[in-house]
Amino acid sequence: MNPQLKYLIELQKIDSEIAELEKSQARIPKQIEAGKSDLQERQNRLKAAQDDISEMQKKRKDLELDVATENDHIAKTKTKLPLVKTNKEYTAILAEVDAIKEKISVLEDNELELMETLEAKEKVIPQLQALCKEEEDKFNAYKLKKEAEMARGEKELGVNRARSAEVARAIETKWLGQYQKVAKARDGLAVVGIQDTVCQGCYQQILPQQAIDVRIGETITQCQHCLRYLYWIEQSETAVPK
Ligand SMILES: [Zn+2]
Repeated sequence: MNPQLKYLIELQKIDSEIAELEKSQARIPKQIEAGKSDLQERQNRLKAAQDDISEMQKKRKDLELDVATENDHIAKTKTKLPLVKTNKEYTAILAEVDAIKEKISVLEDNELELMETLEAKEKVIPQLQALCKEEEDKFNAYKLKKEAEMARGEKELGVNRARSAEVARAIETKWLGQYQKVAKARDGLAVVGIQDTVCQGCYQQILPQQAIDVRIGETITQCQHCLRYLYWIEQSETAVPK
């Protein structure tokens, strides 16, 4: 085979690997970002539960304040007692005090109920925190794994880019220039095999004489349709049943 064609095939192989690697490298940050979603969901749930508790604590304080206000109310009402002149007035004040006591009792019942709910909700917090922590550990491990993958990919890319440059140096400028031009225009694929008389880049027929030239491999041939360099794919015994 023409040594220049050999180099072109080799260059294409390396450059395709580089393109694949670059694609998977570009996916990694997105994968890390997507891997965060479970953690974020758990964090949101914890935050919602904590907000809920704060809200209820505020309500509880308000109820306590209401109770204190009503107790003041009772004390104030009772100061009227020494000034009372009639039984009727006396009874009226006591009734007023009873009514306030009733109000306080309702407030206290509400407070108690709130405290019970609050306690139940607070009990769930450590569980939610543990789940968060678990998810955080999981995510951090995943992130580390992905970052290691990224570093490995970078290293591999470095090696491949150096190899690509090395092989490119062995190719004559006219062939290399055409390779680069076609690769740029054709999604990185500038060297393809043929199968029978079909170009495996554009899947169009090439001339039978050209197919023979490709098979011989002594000259460098381009597909007349897509301008890719062509080479003969060795048919394996198993691929061609007799
Ligand atoms: Zn073609």
